[in-house]
Amino acid sequence: MKIICIGRNYADHAKEMHAQAPSEPVFFFKPQTALSTGSQITIPNFTTNLHHEIELVFRVCKTGFTISESQALHYIDAWSLGIDFTARDIQDVLKAKGLPWEKAKAFDNSAFCAPFTEITDYILPDKEFALMCNSKYVQRGYLKEMLFAPAYLISYVSKFVTLQAGDLIFTGTPAGVGKVNAGDVLQGLYDSRIIFNITIN
Ligand code: MG
Repeated sequence: MKIICIGRNYADHAKEMHAQAPSEPVFFFKPQTALSTGSQITIPNFTTNLHHEIELVFRVCKTGFTISESQALHYIDAWSLGIDFTARDIQDVLKAKGLPWEKAKAFDNSAFCAPFTEITDYILPDKEFALMCNSKYVQRGYLKEMLFAPAYLISYVSKFVTLQAGDLIFTGTPAGVGKVNAGDVLQGLYDSRIIFNITIN
């Protein structure tokens, strides 16, 4: 099982990162040990600027390589909300040196994921998803605001990497990323309904 993460897939987030909107999808990986499904996240001792990035997540249901865009949605069967936790201080240093991001992105428990909901009739979640920190909205987004839609992402990534059942695709974060602190309560919402609650410690 692997976790495929899409970077800079919302124009407003690329802007807040002072990055150009990409002309083709940007992706990176997190290992299986990054997956976290509990209700607590501990800030790792190697960062002083751990950021939240709320993202729509899709679960791959069968093996595929060089998948066509028209067939792509047959390769996912469930969606959820997740947080691509990012050690922003480390990522800033890596970016400045032109180095890979894994140290800032792929650490243990950096890929929080809430329970999955089955996708029926290939209808993807199109309502607002959001993150609240201590009961205040900090991020809001819609699938339709993605620079590259899920079918395109699946097709694109599968040109390079075989997708397998159980793989997760984090599809990028909208604007509003920010630091989490010990004691914070993060809540993920879809269509104003709370999907998850996690505490930072
Ligand atoms: Mg992200």
